[in-house]
Amino acid sequence: MKLFDFPEDVRPHLIPEPGGKMVYRCLGCRGEFPIETLLYTCPDCGQVLMIEDQDFDRIKKIPAPLWRRILDFRKAVKIPALSGIYLYHEFVGPVLPLDAVIYLGEGHTPVIAANAVLQEWVGVPFYFKNDGQNPSASFKDRGMASALSYINYLVRKGHAKNILAVCASTGDTSASAALYAAYLRPYVQSAVILPHQKVTPQQLSQPLGSGAAVFEIPGVFDDCMKIVEHLSSRYPVALLNSKNAWRILGQESYSFEIAQVFDYDVTDRVVVVPIGNAGNITAILSGFLKFFEAGIIKALPKVIGVQSEHADPVYRYYLEPDPKKRRFVPVAVRPSVAQAAMIGNPVSMPRVIHLVDRFNESAGRQRVFFIEVTEQEIMDCQLVANRNGHIVCTHGGESLAGLIRAVGAGIVSKSEIAVLDSTAHAIKFSGFQERYFSRTLAAEFNVETKPELVNAPVLIHPKGLKVPEPGKPLNGKDLDTFVETLSNTIAKKLNLKKTSTP
Ligand SMILES: *Cc1c(COP(=O)(O)O)cnc(C)c1O
Ligand SMILES: [Zn+2]
Repeated sequence: MKLFDFPEDVRPHLIPEPGGKMVYRCLGCRGEFPIETLLYTCPDCGQVLMIEDQDFDRIKKIPAPLWRRILDFRKAVKIPALSGIYLYHEFVGPVLPLDAVIYLGEGHTPVIAANAVLQEWVGVPFYFKNDGQNPSASFKDRGMASALSYINYLVRKGHAKNILAVCASTGDTSASAALYAAYLRPYVQSAVILPHQKVTPQQLSQPLGSGAAVFEIPGVFDDCMKIVEHLSSRYPVALLNSKNAWRILGQESYSFEIAQVFDYDVTDRVVVVPIGNAGNITAILSGFLKFFEAGIIKALPKVIGVQSEHADPVYRYYLEPDPKKRRFVPVAVRPSVAQAAMIGNPVSMPRVIHLVDRFNESAGRQRVFFIEVTEQEIMDCQLVANRNGHIVCTHGGESLAGLIRAVGAGIVSKSEIAVLDSTAHAIKFSGFQERYFSRTLAAEFNVETKPELVNAPVLIHPKGLKVPEPGKPLNGKDLDTFVETLSNTIAKKLNLKKTSTP
């Protein structure tokens, strides 16, 4: 749509101008720091930071009904910078001019209703929001679009040059970081640190393909994180893990999209999200809170964080019902098919604690819950979902397993509608499906193969039959025999009956 075709009340707000007053806020000492330098932890007390807009009141000056119209009409504006997470510019990164925005196709991922078979199986209506349909095939692209747009902005303003971006990763962060950094060549380079043999071959191929420096080290993600923290406190590097508060801002777009796709009514919605380093649940809570404070949504949805038994520090923390008695204890992780969430000491834990309190207080009742699931449930749920037309990876399976548990525990009822975060695309983790099918998952995963979920290709190659070979196609009678023999064999295996004779 051309600018003059938009309604008059919306037109002045369609193309956002830089605004707002963003600062880093320490969650420990409440200290405040300017955003012109790259900070990851508080220089005074070492605690994690959030980014705050001290001029959020300017957002509240626009009435909520007009905001909804602005955001809905903005979807029809064909400017790349407004096509992804910066559709929500005023909420995600108001200080950025649009020409600093990096857009690689992230965000606005589809919300797909579960089919009737699945809904009946689970007992409540639900959708998957397919964040595996982002450019690097996971939700991490939302946060990287924000973090790299911000770095781009700093470079353009002359606050930074020749950036080396680094991250620790369970696979998807590095895939995304390397992709967005590669787009900013030549003045941004990236280096990623991965736990050796604990990312899938598909995930490993991504930063390699993007030209990042890739380092594999012994240990698990938490060990990689320690090295990246060491590097970022002693060398001039830009840290791209979700410790970087700009990542969180970008990932808030997930909540804004859910609000928008349900016409800003999320009263009876339940958002289910797997937790690893806890950046995503942080962003989801923070995003809904912003829309709630602006009046764009009138009620907060329910949010359920899910963890595997093999990596469950957040779940354990909230097991203690008395907030005063809760104590955070990192756990030693065990192998998990939800490998991207295999994290024992989540960096964003202080953010989660802070936001869960604010969320429940704003709602006036408990709206955030934590659920634990088994590795078996994760694997089975992934396979069942995909047998019903979805493309979820093991973490999407974890979301589904969490919903089933939540329904069983009475946390979710039939009158509610769930939205499950499908955090990455199935093919990134296809090795787990393969090992499940071939019964080669190591015993420590505690997953048993259910024969009814197994699938395998059937080779049809009758003995003595002339078959096509490279550079030597069949023709004439040989081709006829080949087609007929193989077709008949397949038809027999499929129990097909002939309808007519040609
Ligand atoms: C990173 C990741 C998670 C965990 O998200 P956190 O923000 O670390 O809690 C879950 N699923 C997938 C596919 C991921 O890549
Ligand atoms: Zn501090």
